This record gives sequence, C-alpha cells and structure tokens, in this order.
Amino acid sequence: MEKKQFQAESKRLLEMMVHSIYSQKEIFLRELISNASDAIDKIYYKALTDENISFNKEDYYIRIEPNKDNRTLTIKDTGIGMTQEELEENLGTIAKSGSLAFKKEVDMQEGQEIIGQFGVGFYSSFMVADKVTVYTRALHSEEGYKWESDGQEGYTIEPYSKEGVGTEIIIHLKENADEENYDQFLDEFSLKSLIKKYSDFIRYPIKMDVTEKQPKSEDDEELVDVTEEQTINSMVPIWRKNKQELKDEDYKAFYQEKHFGFDQPLSHLHVSVDGMVRFQSILYIPEQLPFNYYSQDFEKGLELYSNGVLIMEKCADLLPDYFSFVRGIVDSEDLSLNISREILQQDRQVKLIAKNIEKKISNHLKSLLKNDREKYEKFFEAFGRQLKYGVYSDFGANKDKLQDLLLFYSSNERKLVSLKEYVERMPEDQEHIYYATGESHDRIEKLPQTEMVKDKGYEILYFTDEVDEFAIKMLMKYDEKEFKSVSSGDLNLEDEETKKEAEKQKEEHKDLLTEMKEILNGKVNDVKLSPRLKSHPVCLSAEGDVSIEMEKVLRQMPD
Ligand code: ADP
Ligand code: MG
Repeated sequence: MEKKQFQAESKRLLEMMVHSIYSQKEIFLRELISNASDAIDKIYYKALTDENISFNKEDYYIRIEPNKDNRTLTIKDTGIGMTQEELEENLGTIAKSGSLAFKKEVDMQEGQEIIGQFGVGFYSSFMVADKVTVYTRALHSEEGYKWESDGQEGYTIEPYSKEGVGTEIIIHLKENADEENYDQFLDEFSLKSLIKKYSDFIRYPIKMDVTEKQPKSEDDEELVDVTEEQTINSMVPIWRKNKQELKDEDYKAFYQEKHFGFDQPLSHLHVSVDGMVRFQSILYIPEQLPFNYYSQDFEKGLELYSNGVLIMEKCADLLPDYFSFVRGIVDSEDLSLNISREILQQDRQVKLIAKNIEKKISNHLKSLLKNDREKYEKFFEAFGRQLKYGVYSDFGANKDKLQDLLLFYSSNERKLVSLKEYVERMPEDQEHIYYATGESHDRIEKLPQTEMVKDKGYEILYFTDEVDEFAIKMLMKYDEKEFKSVSSGDLNLEDEETKKEAEKQKEEHKDLLTEMKEILNGKVNDVKLSPRLKSHPVCLSAEGDVSIEMEKVLRQMPD
C-alpha cells in the first residue's frame, strides 16, 4: 500500500470542503453522478467506434446504493475507469477544468460561493464524508485499484481485484451533528428527489433499489414492502426537451452542471433546426469574462454530440472568434461518430451547423440590444471588445455582420450608443460621424479639438479602447457616413468668412509660425494657425490616416 500526499492546492480545497458550512452539501451527488456520466460517455464512445469492443447499451448505467447499517452511500458506474496513474493524476491533484487552480488565495467566504455556483468536482464529496473509498478498473486493464482518503493529509493506493470495468465510489457519511443531517443521503426518498432535481437529464439510467408498498398478489390486496430496481432519471437531455416545458432555472442548472462558468448565464438560446442539417443546441452568453479569456489557456468551442453521444468537448470550428465567449452544446443526428478533429474542419455538416449557429447568436444579440438594453450593455461591457476585434480582424471580412452590434460612449448622452442611433439623430448639415480618442472620457472631454465639433451641435463618439479606432478604420463608413476624427487636419467645419479670416491671419503671422517650427525643430511637421481652437491656445493634430493615438499603439507593437 502506497501513501501519498495531496498536492498543496488540493489540500487547501479539501480543507475548505471538510470544514464547509455550505448549506447545499447535497450538490456532491450531482458532481459524482456527473463524473460517472462523463466516464460512461468516454467508454460509450469507444465502444461505438471500436469494433473490438462489444457493444450492449444495457451495460452502461449508474447505480446508487445507500447502506444504512454501514452509513455508506455508493455510486457505481460502468464507465471507462482509471489506471493507477490516472487515479493519482485525477484525484490527487485538482483537475484543471472544475477547480480553484486559477486562484492563488481563496478565502472561506469566496470558497463557499464557488462551491455553490460551480461545484468543485470529486472533492465535494468530503463535505459529507469523513472517508471516501474508490474502487476502479480501467478499460483494457486486468486489475483494479483501491484509493482511499479521509480528505486530510493524503491518500493511499493499492491494487484491488475488481470485477468489471468501471468505478465505485463509497462515501462514508459523517455522523449527524447540530444542524447537519447526513442521514438524508441514506434515505431513498431524499436520494430520489436529489437525483431528479440535479441529474434528471443525465443520458444514462441512474438506477436505485426502491422499496414500495404493493399488493401481495393479484388476489391478495394486503400491502407488503416490495423492493425493485428503478431508473430514477428521465434521461431526456435538456436540449431534446421542448422549450415551452423548460424554465430559466432549468437552463441555469444545466449551465452549472456543465461547469460552463463561475457566473450565471446572462442569456441563453435554445435552438432546434430541422433543415439542410438537423441539430439541437443550447447556447449561453456568460455574464462575466472568463478569468483566462485573454490568456493562452482559453479555448473557445462548443460541446459536440452525435445523436446524444459526446464526440468532442470543445469543438472550436463551431464558433467564430468574435463569438468565442459563447458556451454550450450542439447535438446533431447528421454527424458521424468517427469524425476526427482533422476531418471535422472539412465536414460539410459541421460547416452548415457553424454558419447557422453564428446567425442565431447574431440575431439573438440584436434582439437583446433592441428589447433588453440593460442586459445588452452588460454583455457589451464584458465582451464588446471581442466584437470590435472581430470587425478589425480578417481584413474586415465580418464587419457588415458586426457593425450593428457595436456600442460607443457618446458625448451627447454620456452613455453607450449604437452607430444606428448616432446616424439617426445627426443634424441635417452634419456629414460625418465624429470621434475622439483618448485614455479616458475625462481626458477626451478636455481635448481642445472637441470644442468646435460640439459647438456645431454634433455628437462625438469617445474611443478609449485601443481597438476602437482600428475597428472604425476598417469600417470606414456607416450608412454612407464617413468616420472622422476630431483631431484630423481637415475637419472643414468653418464657414466661409472664418476661413477667409484665417487665410489672412496666416499671411500676417507667417514669420512667427516659421520661427516656431524652427524652435520645435523636428518635433512637429508643421505649425499652423487654426480657427477651430476656441478656449485653448494649442492642440496637436495628425495628418493623413493614422491618428496620434493609433501611432502610439503601433509604436508599442513588436515588429
Ligand atoms: P472534472 O470532472 O471537472 O474533471 P472532478 O474533480 O469532478 O473534475 O474529477 C476529476 C477527474 O477524475 C475527472 O476529470 C476524471 O478524469 C476523474 N474521474 C472522476 N470520477 C470518475 C469516474 N467515476 N470514472 C472515471 N474517472 C473519474
Ligand atoms: Mg466532475
């Protein structure tokens, strides 16, 4: 028997679990069932695609066994099992996906919240157990292993001869204390309702022995206890259900069950398409930016199922980069199970699905913008930048699709406006869409260049994000109106008289201007008299297409 220490991060998480005062300890069951289902997904897929494995649908199930005498609750699955390495790797360290690994310091309070919203996988069993035993045997393995831990320092591993491939997790329940009732996890009725509540749409049967009163026989009406194995869950995946039957809560629960994010979904869409390609999909717009969104670790993609069988956890080809924040699942009966990552990109069905999904997301966002402005702005605060990158990238190939989803802060309303709104209320004599760039709204407000434009009664869009101006340069126009920086040299907003006067002044002060230019020696291209300045003595202005702000960004870029 080998004794091993938990990895440091696991220890902290475990400590939090063992001492958890989190009220919904029951979610441990959801976590263990979801792991069992994942494991069956893996073997099910193998069995379907590998001729050497015999396939029998009835062989794939999850079984729940409470034992009052031993105070244990056992969760058995016929999934893929774990090898010794996998046991150590998966249960000795925090799995990447469902974990706190990203947080260096987690305080108890925060921890409670994370447990609630997210579940924390296997370790959550230590909220209710003072010891957990795992028996497991991996596919194609002759022997099995026993893993055991009290959730304190470490765990033990030893060989164990287990019948059949799969995993058996035995929860040794804590003793009841004060307000904590652990006995409920031994009770058939409460177990049944927990499974219904959290795991109803698991696609494999979750079986349990249930004892019910039944007539003794057809002739004898006397009621006696009869115990029989029942399948507790309805097994219909949520995406196959009718939208009308589902509530917001159901979608939220699925988001959590799938660990799509630590947050709540801001909005969801449930799609069922029956055309050139058939598929069902549930897509979520998260509320918050994932913590690793702008890092290398972030992977976009949707879970891809072929007729209910998981074939890929993150299918990137289903989402364009500018919608990479979308999470969710797609299930299509038109996909081959044997599809590989390489073929996937070429696959006609996948392309059709991707196109369709993109359109659905785009329409969903548009209707959100129209019908729930507050929500849309919340979305835009988090992910608007991604849309602007979308306009800019691929040489502007997607700009038409995205331009109406953009919002910018405006001088008029001091809030976010769309380009459509801007153009609709332009005064008749206004030809261009004006914008100003700067570090902050405050800074922009103080720019001398904005004065004259504002005086004319024109609205100015404030660009504080580096990508703003690049995106706009890619758009060039919106509704035939060109974008123009208030700092550009040729605003041409003066009336004839002012212009004439300016010409005159220019002649008069020619020597002074030349002198100034010489003194500034090479630091500026030119020094000009400008009629556009009102209460400021001087301003900087860029010539040509590249603004001063853009120049700054370009200069920071590596060559
Ligand atoms: P996650 O499910 O998010 O990966 P968990 O902590 O729930 O994180 O599980 C950690 C890992 O342990 C899983 O990824 C899986 O590899 C393995 N595992 C857990 N339960 C089982 C099981 N019943 N059968 C096979 N592997 C399992
Ligand atoms: Mg899990």
